[in-house]
Amino acid sequence: MVIYPMDAKYNTYAFPSSIEIFTFTKLKTIQMKTIDDFDFKDKKALIRVDFNVPLDSDFKVTDTNRIEAAKPTIIKILEDGGSAVLMSHLGRPDGQSKPELSLEHICDTVSAILGVGVRFVPDCVGENAELAVAQLQPGEVLLLENLRFHKEEEKGDEAFAKLLSKLGDMYVNDAFGTAHRAHASTTIVAKFFPGKRCFGYLMAKEIEAIEKVMRTGEKPVLAILGGAKVSSKITIIENILDKVDHLIIGGGMTFTFIKAQGGHVGDSICEDDKMGLALEILKKAKTKGVQVHLPVDVLAADAFDNNATTQIVAVDKIPKGWQGLDAGPKTLEKFREVILKSRTILWNGPIGVFEMERFSKGTIAIGNDIDEATTNGAFSLVGGGDSVAAVKQFGFEDKVSYVSTGGGAMLESLEGKVLPGIAAIIEG
Ligand code: AMP
Repeated sequence: MVIYPMDAKYNTYAFPSSIEIFTFTKLKTIQMKTIDDFDFKDKKALIRVDFNVPLDSDFKVTDTNRIEAAKPTIIKILEDGGSAVLMSHLGRPDGQSKPELSLEHICDTVSAILGVGVRFVPDCVGENAELAVAQLQPGEVLLLENLRFHKEEEKGDEAFAKLLSKLGDMYVNDAFGTAHRAHASTTIVAKFFPGKRCFGYLMAKEIEAIEKVMRTGEKPVLAILGGAKVSSKITIIENILDKVDHLIIGGGMTFTFIKAQGGHVGDSICEDDKMGLALEILKKAKTKGVQVHLPVDVLAADAFDNNATTQIVAVDKIPKGWQGLDAGPKTLEKFREVILKSRTILWNGPIGVFEMERFSKGTIAIGNDIDEATTNGAFSLVGGGDSVAAVKQFGFEDKVSYVSTGGGAMLESLEGKVLPGIAAIIEG
């Protein structure tokens, strides 16, 4: 069997053969099967990957992260002596064949990353696809055409899923980014592989990271929630109050909490209709013994502009005409103390308007503190939306324990939802 070159980085992937998971199964223990539980020799693995990558105007891949993230799973299957049938969506073709969204554009890039030739078949179901799979030899890789060229994919159509199931002996789901969708290839297809379905390494890593934050992580557990609005984070906050010892609230969300407690927030972003909810959250946190840490001072600006005039003011005494756009120095000192004493840290949402340089310092400081805590042995997970963008922008990606690859899927996990793509593998 040919041994394909592996990056040192990927050699470090080590998983228990099964992982106990609770969160997704409403507190039932389940042994989660990963690809390490199977020998793929002479098996054709139908693998759902997330190759929804950005392309430039020449159809060249501009960010290969998602392809690289799926590599360890594909390589393990090839090294076992199996073959890989890769299926993914690309963009939003809405059930139409759109040449500009063909996965053929990424075939060479996938091949270069894997270090093995990749064949492409211009459909993902039907005669051509079945013939290409029949001809596939151990050690070979086949890439199917964009799943979303068929409207049945997003509808979770069972007949379409059955056609997909003909293209492999085993089903592997390694697409965390679409695990919150009950699509044919992410969820429905799994039922046609009883006893022959499992998670790839990427999915396993994501699940393990969420499990650490939600259940198995060392205490004290801290969640840092930032971002713009309370309303978009409310379900996460409610779910997380049962799991954490400390909750840092930062970013634009702050001001709804401060105004609800009688503070003056000037022109800062504030959801007046959520003030009751904010007070309820604080009350609930107290009952559950969760310590909530809110900012005490802010960097206030006279306009939502990188060139605005700024001043540091108390968070509850922001003058009219001024808005809080970043955390102040006392706040950062207070947050730092909490971060450094935590052993498990979740970070979701920036602490200020990090897109503007003048208001990015709070978010960078939090990143540095999490880096230090991680170096001292804490587990840190960054997940969901803009905090991932911030972490990448400021170079913290390799300094935290894990950066989630799935925006919506991570947010729904933190909300405590059972993701259909995960349930489909573990149920039955
Ligand atoms: P979210 O998607 O809810 O995580 O929100 C992310 C957005 O929150 C980013 O675009 C930030 O610029 C924004 N944000 C963070 N802090 C503030 C703030 N103090 N005022 C207004 N927007 C903020």
